[in-house]
Amino acid sequence: MQIVKYPHPALRNKAEPITALSKEIELLAGGMLELMYKHEGLGLAAPQVAAPVRLLVMNFSADPAKKEHEFVAINPVIVDASKQIIDDREGCLSFPELYAKVRRAKRVKVQAYNLKGELYEMTCEDLPARVWQHEIDHLDGTLFIDKMGLVGRMNSKKALKQFEEEYLEAQRKSEIPPDLPPKL
Ligand SMILES: [Zn+2]
Repeated sequence: MQIVKYPHPALRNKAEPITALSKEIELLAGGMLELMYKHEGLGLAAPQVAAPVRLLVMNFSADPAKKEHEFVAINPVIVDASKQIIDDREGCLSFPELYAKVRRAKRVKVQAYNLKGELYEMTCEDLPARVWQHEIDHLDGTLFIDKMGLVGRMNSKKALKQFEEEYLEAQRKSEIPPDLPPKL
């Protein structure tokens, strides 16, 4: 398992809901958590490992020792979002070293299932709310570059071009993991 980087097509797929828990889902979540910590991310969505299912892992502290901040979210949905918007910098593990301001709701209420199949609800604001919104976007093939303002887009142009060139180069060397759905 590895994190696919922009412009890998898996990042643009709409992920399917998970209809049953399985050992494979558990292994997928475990592998994603490991990758997320290794790359010091706060969240990772299954499409970022080319798995087209509605699964996220998160830890708002980015510290593997702080398990109380660690979440696995199956079929997550935002059930309520504040009208208040915060414009702040964010990054993405599929766009290493690229940061830009993105407008997000300050506070969200989310619902998701955990690995035991239990529904949980969480209301959070600021950074955790931003992480939830960013990761849930991934499940619909939406990336933070789609939501950047004009300045962010202009400033990202060069980096995006470089990601595209690196992708083509890796493809030439056959280093890109295939965009195949895993068996779940
Ligand atoms: Zn991301």
